[in-house]
Amino acid sequence: MSVMGGQVDVVIVGSCMTDLVSQVQRLPKVGETIHGHKFFIGFGGKGANQCVQAARMGAKTAMVCKLGNDFFGDKYVQNFKDHGISTDYVEQTAEAVTGAASIIVNDAGENAIVIVAGANLLLGNEEIQRAKPAVSQAKVLVCQLEISPDASLKALHMAKESYVRTIFNPAPAIADLHSDFYKASDVFCCNESEAELLTGQTVATVEDAGKVGVELLGRGCGSVIITLGAQGCVVITAQGSSPKHVPTSKVTAVDTTGAGDSFIGALAFYIAHYPTMPLEEMARRANLVAAVSVQTEGTQSSYPCKKDLPSALF
Ligand code: ATP
Repeated sequence: MSVMGGQVDVVIVGSCMTDLVSQVQRLPKVGETIHGHKFFIGFGGKGANQCVQAARMGAKTAMVCKLGNDFFGDKYVQNFKDHGISTDYVEQTAEAVTGAASIIVNDAGENAIVIVAGANLLLGNEEIQRAKPAVSQAKVLVCQLEISPDASLKALHMAKESYVRTIFNPAPAIADLHSDFYKASDVFCCNESEAELLTGQTVATVEDAGKVGVELLGRGCGSVIITLGAQGCVVITAQGSSPKHVPTSKVTAVDTTGAGDSFIGALAFYIAHYPTMPLEEMARRANLVAAVSVQTEGTQSSYPCKKDLPSALF
């Protein structure tokens, strides 16, 4: 699919990972070989997850990322195409493998994970520059930190120069995040543990989340959302305004992996499609989309499509 002929509303600059998941009774000890009882391969990586959720809701999306020139890279390109996501800025390289996460989960739900970021780390400023035609015409740009922070910041600045709204998801969080990230974020959206790492403060309650959200807002972002799992999220929209708790519906969670990415992908959809909708209302709806994703197993495979969601969310 080419973006030349049609505008892309949501551009995601970020990571792709192939999840290789083995389920075992217990985690192996050093040097031990054990048998697992289930294995599956899933598409993951925060950037790609968010892009797939936005696309499933009906947004015209483009992914800017780097994959290996290998079996998993080819499969990932096909995954994007299957979702109608533009692959004009999906590059494959022979110099690194497609990012992979080898995950071992025991019956108690505990896990051991090895991530090899591979080609994700080769997504640099040149690739971001090549994506300018899509970024500068988009309605919203989304970045995270699973690629080089420099590349993410360049993409955020490129979007701001073209008055494109930005969502920045500082995940995985780094303690000494450069102040420019805050200034380049129209919506700074993170979970509670990322908020803790960024501020050095504990987030144990909704009130704590409000307080650290105000602190993050003070660092220069347009607005802040802190996601709180089953408690929904807290939204702070302007200096001096009080934090708003946006609760979510009570559901039976089966697998919360990737819930944060579902939330952000949905938020990107709402910003692109309903630019004047209050952020609090977008967050309320994104909560409900993410709540669907936690009710089935898997990451991208658990993300709802437009047809699976109540029409009141559109
Ligand atoms: P993950 O790392 O698993 O992707 P996260 O820690 O980044 O998730 P959370 O704050 O746990 O993000 O969840 C993101 C959003 O998903 C929440 O704001 C909420 O809307 C929804 N959510 C997560 N867990 C639940 C739950 N148990 N019940 C209902 N909604 C949930």
